[in-house]
Amino acid sequence: MEKTNLSRRSFFKFAVAAAAVVPFIAKATKSFAADTCPATAPAGKAIASPSEGMGKTLQYVTDATTSKNAKYKAGSKCGSCKFYNVAKAEGGYAPCTMLGMKYVTNCGWCSSFAAKA
Ligand code: SF4
Repeated sequence: MEKTNLSRRSFFKFAVAAAAVVPFIAKATKSFAADTCPATAPAGKAIASPSEGMGKTLQYVTDATTSKNAKYKAGSKCGSCKFYNVAKAEGGYAPCTMLGMKYVTNCGWCSSFAAKA
């Protein structure tokens, strides 16, 4: 009988500890997801192309670190640009105002980059 009470008590201690930790893990995972470069573009969305239209004009690249543009500064990327529409973000992509609302990756960059205020 004593062993059962101890096990039950241990279970409840674990459950309380887990309930306290889960929100932090969820928040950490969400911010990690926001910083992680997506492997694939979201299906059914118009994706900006580095080689066509405004993407080409503004020298958009899907990996900011590969930009050869003289205006590029290390650390700047679509995910921290004011034209990146976070409210409509999906799978690490979001529509960009400067690229005709086509979806750009949060790791991309173009010559119209403007840091969020
Ligand atoms: S304007 Fe900003 S969000 Fe749009 S492609 Fe350029 S850097 Fe990315």
